[in-house]
Amino acid sequence: MDIPDFKVSLKCLFCGETLEGPEDAEYQSGDLIKCTRCGEENDYDSVLEVAKEEGVGQVKEMVEDQLQKQFKGLFKKYP
Ligand SMILES: [Zn+2]
Repeated sequence: MDIPDFKVSLKCLFCGETLEGPEDAEYQSGDLIKCTRCGEENDYDSVLEVAKEEGVGQVKEMVEDQLQKQFKGLFKKYP
């Protein structure tokens, strides 16, 4: 089964803006990431948790799509 590449970005928990740190920034558990839009500080662990859920949701959708296509194919082959 093919799963296309997908991207999950870290988003501000307060305003939903994509969080962008310096290119070489390395965040660690317990760090705070300041949002460039609203200025709120996001807890890195929470931001990561939300991104993880979003990623799982995206993969699930893709898998369901693939399965649906394969099921359609099955019915075509064996009418
Ligand atoms: Zn924000």
